[in-house]
Amino acid sequence: MSIQRIAVIGGGTMGNGIAHVAAQHGRDVRLLDLSAEVLERATATIGKNLDRQVAKGRLEPGDRDATLGRIETSTDVAAGVAGVDLIVEAVPEKAELKYSIFETMDAHADPGTILASNTSSISITEIAARTQRPEDVIGMHFMNPVPIMKLVEVIRGLATSDETTRRTVELAEALGKTAVEVNDFPGFVSNRVLMPMINEAVTALMEGVAEPEAIDTVMKLGMNHPMGPLALADLIGLDTCLNILEVLHRELGDDRYRPSPLLRKYVAAGWLGRKSGRGFFEYS
Ligand code: NAD
Repeated sequence: MSIQRIAVIGGGTMGNGIAHVAAQHGRDVRLLDLSAEVLERATATIGKNLDRQVAKGRLEPGDRDATLGRIETSTDVAAGVAGVDLIVEAVPEKAELKYSIFETMDAHADPGTILASNTSSISITEIAARTQRPEDVIGMHFMNPVPIMKLVEVIRGLATSDETTRRTVELAEALGKTAVEVNDFPGFVSNRVLMPMINEAVTALMEGVAEPEAIDTVMKLGMNHPMGPLALADLIGLDTCLNILEVLHRELGDDRYRPSPLLRKYVAAGWLGRKSGRGFFEYS
């Protein structure tokens, strides 16, 4: 049974990207968020990103409108998760919030619906245990920006079935992505490796080793990274980075994951990176 109808919960940075890619690949998408304003903004963002694809010759103009036409939005999350084949949750990286969303999905989604989380670090096994159908729960970790990045890290919880994994991998590939299967450990592979690097760059900045521009240039030109770690942190969102580091620190119990005090300070100030206009760099 192929996956045709997809619900995405959360219309923020990741949710609108996932909705965009799924609709562009012919899926019927329901984008759900508590806030009608977020949903309006998400639709506008998707429209703008599709325009950019058309301008670059990567999308036919007719496909732009067809893609938007396949996305419906709603603020009724409980009703919105019924009647779909797969749900991707993309709400903020807070365990209690994710647990409650999965309880809602469990109560309202059709039997056999795949319940996926885009979490960056929270245990899929623990999320799954909040439902009566842990075999249908899986991690589907898209990268930011979703329309551009090729990887989907597919995370198997302890109880995730082979069938759920197979169908999820198949969908990721059908959306033009490369799926890589990993097991459920804090931070999986991507953030287990990435976040300590970002955290170390922030600590280097705090200790006055170099200015942000210099730190990023060393990593770009010296290590051949397409973006420096501080610009990448701004893109991910500094609050998201802090949340992930807190999970790694708590779950793995090792001080090498302790979030830098400077990262905490920026988040406390509301300097969250691109989405707030200011992080380690300024954005107009
Ligand atoms: P975001 O803050 O941009 O968006 C989250 C959205 O969820 C907001 O629009 C908010 O209104 C909505 N929301 C909050 N509570 C809700 C609820 N109860 N029901 C419905 N909607 C609700 O966050 P984001 O950056 O898109 O991150 C979402 C998830 O994706 C997180 O788990 C994050 O760790 C993960 N992730 C983020 C990135 C990244 O680079 N930003 C990359 C990979 C994975």
